Amino acid sequence: MPSSVPHIVIAGGGFGGLEAALGLRQRLGEAARITLVADRDRFVFKPYLTYLPFGLALDQIELDLPAVAEAHGLHFIRARIDGLVPEQRRLQAGERTVPYDALVIATGARPRPEEIPGLREQAYGLWHEPDLQRLRAVLDGLQRGSDERPRHIAFLAPPASPWTGPLYELALMTDTWLTWQGVRNRVELTLMTAEPSFLAALGDHLHARIAHELDRRGITAYRGLAVTAVEPGVLHDAAGGRHRFDVLVAVPPYVAAVPWPTLPTDDRGFLRTRLASGQVEDGTDVHYAVGDATAFPVKQAIVALRQADAAAEHLAARLQRRTPAFSFDPSSFFTLEALDEALLALTPPGDAPLVPLPVGQARRQALRAGLPWRLDTSNPLYAGLLWKGTRTGIGVLRHLLRP
Ligand SMILES: Cc1cc2nc3c(=O)[nH]c(=O)nc-3n(C[C@H](O)[C@H](O)[C@H](O)COP(=O)(O)OP(=O)(O)OC[C@H]3O[C@@H](n4cnc5c(N)ncnc54)[C@H](O)[C@@H]3O)c2cc1C
Repeated sequence: MPSSVPHIVIAGGGFGGLEAALGLRQRLGEAARITLVADRDRFVFKPYLTYLPFGLALDQIELDLPAVAEAHGLHFIRARIDGLVPEQRRLQAGERTVPYDALVIATGARPRPEEIPGLREQAYGLWHEPDLQRLRAVLDGLQRGSDERPRHIAFLAPPASPWTGPLYELALMTDTWLTWQGVRNRVELTLMTAEPSFLAALGDHLHARIAHELDRRGITAYRGLAVTAVEPGVLHDAAGGRHRFDVLVAVPPYVAAVPWPTLPTDDRGFLRTRLASGQVEDGTDVHYAVGDATAFPVKQAIVALRQADAAAEHLAARLQRRTPAFSFDPSSFFTLEALDEALLALTPPGDAPLVPLPVGQARRQALRAGLPWRLDTSNPLYAGLLWKGTRTGIGVLRHLLRP
């Protein structure tokens, strides 16, 4: 490839980074050098981490990034990024510098459990793969009935947890799993969240339906409960309340994974971007940001994919001196897995709330078969017939179910 073509660097190899890289390759072909820089050589399909306590193995939801990169003509660098020197257009990764003509930042968010004293030590963290695997041993213990003592499993979302969806999933999945094992009556389940309404990131329109679902399953749930500290077996809240638990499962507070002091960010380090194009609001037109690394309030894989597609389209159009064909579409959907069924949530608010879907097993199997195949076809994840079909289906549902 000629070195005269622009060099586009993608920082991060998760949903946003990989999608942006594949989207740019698809649009620009050989007219750009594309380098992917990530500190891990595995792509993890994070939405399926919630299956780990119920038997799914980590290697079933991982892809080898260098192999994916090679298959798509991307240069892969495994390195830990520290920051950038914007005026020199250089990414800094330890001793190494990576020059760029355009940069797409997709380094995601980093858990900061230490904001709540005791959380890291006392909770099984939804952010931490080994914790989810250890949780499986706890559930197995309950299944064998090795401990006759009634158990209380609490699911916690403290303040500054931007995406609580997996916590709700894990509570519902645990309920179903315990029912299947015939031990549900031995275990009390509680969900506690600092959110003003259940699954608030997607709007308050889901609250009543989720409250009903939790209640139907006998899961005691509290909202607006700001936990300030955790001690062994006890949670303390801001109003002076104490809440007992035997096993605690939590989503953490999050901050940006990489600090970008020379770029505009919010108080948690998330990058401020133009909604339509993903361009960082730094007055230049060479920096883009997508996914959890941005200040966009919904931190979801599907959002990262859509932002990455919009950024790839905008950047490619700029290089090809044409008008972008589309911009970022902030509507989204989320399937809340419960093992025995899934609930489909459509956003933005104002649309129909939650639709039950009988898709538990099918969803898992489709992923195992579908994800590697999808990447092998040289397509971005959020493109092509499969996603067009999904989008059309969601659009039809939205239309039919609108109140
Ligand atoms: C348990 C769980 C369940 C979830 N369930 C869902 C769901 O059902 N639906 C949904 O839509 N979303 C879900 N999410 C959220 C979703 O996974 C994230 O929104 C998505 O991963 C964001 O993609 P991203 O590319 O922005 O960041 P990430 O996927 O986090 O990728 C970040 C990339 O940057 C790299 N990186 C980070 N720091 C550095 C550094 N310093 N140097 C170099 N590289 C670095 C990482 O290695 C990684 O490659 C879930 C998340 C979790 C944790």
